[in-house]
Amino acid sequence: MNVLIIYAHPEPKSFNGALKDLDVSELTSLGHQVKVSDLYAMNFKAVADRDDFQMLENEDFFKYAKEQKRATKTNSFSKDIQREQEKLLWADFVIFQFPLWWFSVPAILKGWFDRVFASGFAYSSENRYDSGGLKGRKAMLSTTTGSPKQAYTPYGIDGDIHERILYHINHGMLYFAGLEPIEPFIAWTPSHNDEDRKRYLEEYKRRLNNLSEIPAISYHPTSHYDEHHQLKKEYRAF
Ligand SMILES: Cc1cc2nc3c(=O)[nH]c(=O)nc-3n(C[C@H](O)[C@H](O)[C@H](O)COP(=O)(O)OP(=O)(O)OC[C@H]3O[C@@H](n4cnc5c(N)ncnc54)[C@H](O)[C@@H]3O)c2cc1C
Repeated sequence: MNVLIIYAHPEPKSFNGALKDLDVSELTSLGHQVKVSDLYAMNFKAVADRDDFQMLENEDFFKYAKEQKRATKTNSFSKDIQREQEKLLWADFVIFQFPLWWFSVPAILKGWFDRVFASGFAYSSENRYDSGGLKGRKAMLSTTTGSPKQAYTPYGIDGDIHERILYHINHGMLYFAGLEPIEPFIAWTPSHNDEDRKRYLEEYKRRLNNLSEIPAISYHPTSHYDEHHQLKKEYRAF
């Protein structure tokens, strides 16, 4: 399959860099086609602004999502956005490799989502979640933390990693745009000891060899919600 890796770490010798390198070597040796967007190396612009468009519909009042919608129709995004969107359309599977920063993605990756997951391209008011623009593709978050695993349990000080920390990315960005996110890979506190790092690299290699076996995160399709955006009673757990 075609695998796109979106990699956001400023240091090539970091543990995130090692995980990204493993992605490339392992997936290539398995016969997959691999492309990497190394956001820091590309000096990817993180700020969404007027320069993202070759022309503007309304110069007097700049409305970002409206300009995105028009640029999708007229193929007039800036070249850096176009290149990323083309890679997404090429991909069957997208891996996001990043360190957890402030319970989220580094700003350069947040900017990538703001600019590349454009209105009209990745979603519209009618097409989101299970009918989002990137439907038919899978995605996986691969991240590293500073805090230990116990801190990210339901009663842990940082909050449940799946329900509170990664939910806004898996559900609010990936699934919203139509991607099907699978369970994330998390390397907890890789800066602490070499044994753990070796174990994580082996574990990650096994995962890359079995990507199709990793379950998708289960989210409700839009048909399970009523006209007030409420989950219909028959689908509620309580
Ligand atoms: C702005 C900011 C916000 C943050 N917010 C949070 C937060 O909200 N929550 C949280 O938990 N943490 C947070 N952190 C901490 C951050 O998540 C961790 O520092 C990061 O995840 C560690 O990953 P790394 O790749 O940067 O590790 P590095 O420190 O780069 O790497 C760890 C070690 O791995 C070694 N290494 C590299 N390659 C290999 C290899 N092939 N084999 C073996 N060892 C190797 C490196 O030499 C290094 O010693 C934050 C950090 C910053 C800077």
